[in-house]
Amino acid sequence: MDHQKIWDLIKLQLTTELPPAKMGAWIEPVSPSLENNILWLAVPSQFFIDGLKNDCEEKIIQILLSIGLKDIKIDYRIDNSITLFPTTPASKPPIKHNIDGFIDERFTFGNFVVGPSNEFCHAASMAVAEQPGAQYNPLYIHGGVGLGKTHLINAIANQLSLSGNYKIAYRTGEHFTNELIDSIRTQKTAAFRNKYRKVDVLIIDDIQFIEGKQSTQEEFFHTFDALHKAKKQIILTSDRDPSAIKHLAERLRSRFNWGLVADIQPPKFETRMAILKSKIALAGIEIDEDICFLLASKITSNVRELEGALTRLTAYAKLSRRPITMELAQDKLRDQLQLQAKVITIENIQKHVANYYNIRIKDMRSKVRKRNIAYPRQIAMYLSKELTKMSMPEIADEFEKKDHTTILYAHRKIQKECLEKPDFQQEMQRLIKLLKQG
Ligand code: ADP
Ligand code: MG
Repeated sequence: MDHQKIWDLIKLQLTTELPPAKMGAWIEPVSPSLENNILWLAVPSQFFIDGLKNDCEEKIIQILLSIGLKDIKIDYRIDNSITLFPTTPASKPPIKHNIDGFIDERFTFGNFVVGPSNEFCHAASMAVAEQPGAQYNPLYIHGGVGLGKTHLINAIANQLSLSGNYKIAYRTGEHFTNELIDSIRTQKTAAFRNKYRKVDVLIIDDIQFIEGKQSTQEEFFHTFDALHKAKKQIILTSDRDPSAIKHLAERLRSRFNWGLVADIQPPKFETRMAILKSKIALAGIEIDEDICFLLASKITSNVRELEGALTRLTAYAKLSRRPITMELAQDKLRDQLQLQAKVITIENIQKHVANYYNIRIKDMRSKVRKRNIAYPRQIAMYLSKELTKMSMPEIADEFEKKDHTTILYAHRKIQKECLEKPDFQQEMQRLIKLLKQG
């Protein structure tokens, strides 16, 4: 396999694991080459080497292992001739942004799809971008991964930077913490403090990172107060609401609640469809409606997953020079589409079967031998074996049986009955359907 092919495979896998911002920042500029089993990754500067190492190295090594290339090591070198944005004419002067930190210019309000799950956060973000410091201070956005928090705060930063009137500092909680630790080590805490107190807008993504870190919290507390007093805007995101960040100083927790705490939820089907269509239009590609429908109905957890599936599909089509068809989608996204399928647990099976046969859930674990109870219990055991990945001993545990032969016996008995009685088999099918629907 030549270096380009290897790198293409790595990229393909990475698109499903990294957010687009990181793909664009670290992976796209890389120029690979292969010498004596070393995959050299040439990048424009040390900054890129650090970024790649931090965000991607482990993943790349895992991917090499997973495609059977365990002998290939990776190493880095700096190549000054790599231009970051080859499509931008060199003569174009850089836009003055007044931004300190890495902002993703692709995350704007214009390409954020608004739906019931995020309209509150979106409206609050727009208000803050209109008049920073005037209302909602701090703006605290929280929600699960891949739901658009980082997108929204980048959109605020992008919009504010257009006017050039605001000094913006953008950090992740992790970056802020590391910077503070560095400044303590190099005895430059005063400079650190001054820098942050001079900004007009302070944005910290994933503030939950400072949980349990006392000196970072202490420093952040003083920065927060100084900025807040001066009516400077503070914007925070987190994977949790302030009360759920356990190891957080009380005075910070209360301050996080001073402004507006807004939560962002996973999008509903219609919004997922709209997001997909928007991403497809942005990428300048064409994908059939029924393929969108498949992705939007199966991939429900978050937008990053949805976007990842689309990127992966497009990449496969491009690399294999095939059109994007339903068949390709079903084939290449098999794992992802299945992963999202409802996970059936033994607990669920016990609950549903007990309901169906009108017995108490606790009888599923009891020793009662009466047929009207023992029989549904055997059915639940059978379904547990059929529908979960649990082993017989594990299933026995869940039914509080000492050894797995009880499960084995129940499984054989019910299986036999299914084969012999079509009516009974139909009843099992009905139960399975019920279970799959949750
Ligand atoms: P979070 O920070 O909440 O984990 P991100 O902001 O990184 O999530 O979003 C993950 C990906 O999903 C990004 O590529 C982002 O552009 C996209 N995304 C999330 N919500 C939307 C939306 N409403 N419209 C368009 N893209 C979205
Ligand atoms: Mg984020």
